[in-house]
Amino acid sequence: MVKVPFACGECNRILDDGISQCNHCPNAPVTTDWQGFVVILHPSRSEIAKRLNVSAPGNYALKVNIR
Ligand SMILES: [Zn+2]
Repeated sequence: MVKVPFACGECNRILDDGISQCNHCPNAPVTTDWQGFVVILHPSRSEIAKRLNVSAPGNYALKVNIR
């Protein structure tokens, strides 16, 4: 079984294994219900980063489903 990491509902960041709270958004909900893993290396040059409103490099989910 592959364990799905949490993604932050606020900034879409995919959290490290065993981490259940985004350290950039301490009050944001997190969920394993997300789709589309993207690695953003150069946010200023990335269309996806602009679309996701991302300003720091990292791993992000394209879509996070927060109920
Ligand atoms: Zn976050």
